[in-house]
Amino acid sequence: MKKRPGLRKRLALELFRSIRKKRAKIHELRTLFWECTLRCNQDCRHCGSNCHQSARQPDMPAEDFLKVIDEITPHVDPHQVVITFTGGEVLLRDDIEECGSELRRRGFPWGIVTNGLLLTHERLDSLLASGMQSVTINLDGFEEAHNWLHRHPESFEQAVNAICLLAEEKKIKWEVVTCVNQRNFKDLMLFKEFLVEMGVNNWRLSSLLPVGNVANNPELLLDDEQFTWLLRFIRHYRREGKIHIDFACDGFLGNYEGEVRDQIFQCSAGISTASILADGSISGCPNTQAKFRQGNIYKDNFMDVWNNGFKEYRNREWARKGACSDCDMFRYCEGNGMHLHGDDGKLPACHYKRIQ
Ligand code: SF4
Ligand code: SF4
Repeated sequence: MKKRPGLRKRLALELFRSIRKKRAKIHELRTLFWECTLRCNQDCRHCGSNCHQSARQPDMPAEDFLKVIDEITPHVDPHQVVITFTGGEVLLRDDIEECGSELRRRGFPWGIVTNGLLLTHERLDSLLASGMQSVTINLDGFEEAHNWLHRHPESFEQAVNAICLLAEEKKIKWEVVTCVNQRNFKDLMLFKEFLVEMGVNNWRLSSLLPVGNVANNPELLLDDEQFTWLLRFIRHYRREGKIHIDFACDGFLGNYEGEVRDQIFQCSAGISTASILADGSISGCPNTQAKFRQGNIYKDNFMDVWNNGFKEYRNREWARKGACSDCDMFRYCEGNGMHLHGDDGKLPACHYKRIQ
């Protein structure tokens, strides 16, 4: 039977709940994603976005994005708002550096999410010269598992090369993210050692949920026992301390709260995180469903939307339905991550109930 959070954990959850409520009330923008392209040079099996090798949606011109940045700048301390370029594969754009330099000039720290395929020495130097301060790079296991997931024969080799380049850089923050699935699960311990040897200091792990195309591919999904083992693995190796490991933000984890992440679960979408999508839509996180989009930069002022929209993000009482309606963890979980709520209003997954 599932062990419910004990008294000490409940006290911590209560304390964090009040912090979360305050954060939702003041909703300070701290993270802004820009989905700067839907083009991609890989064809990942687990991709949840609408990316394609030749996307129908053209890239948003950098000046359109910078116009929004100029709307935001007077209302925030730019040094406190991290801007992350996401895609698609962001390095397919050749104006990232130009746009990044403009962000730096305005005082915003910025970074990228990349598959590493185009992150050569020269490109990294030019990104760094434009003020890039953070990189998130995917590495989904050893060669066979990674290339299978990314459906690209050189993906692993290029990502490893890029990681070796990043390991030389002491001034920027960077992390490896790994999506755990049936192909890489059995090698996780060895893979951790491999990352440590390469000089990786920060490793974020996630697991997939039966949503969209993932639902039809059992090799992508962990069973509940494996999912629980993954949480134990993270907890154990966080204590070991050779590498800083974090579980992704996307679900409430009951007794594992405070032990597998740096902070207790909070879906920050719409509370401190916003996104500008490739077509100009304003959303919480890049992967939240269309029904939760709040406006569009081509017709709305971003700050008006940020200040007056996002109501479903900041008050999640509407999520108290279905399996969540009589759940005694709702006060801490609030119906899990926003990105898990489908356009049909259904919640396909509960992390807490998966834990054995
Ligand atoms: S049933 Fe709903 S509220 Fe309860 S833990 Fe699961 S997702 Fe969260
Ligand atoms: S929507 Fe999902 S990915 Fe975004 S902050 Fe919430 S839980 Fe995390």
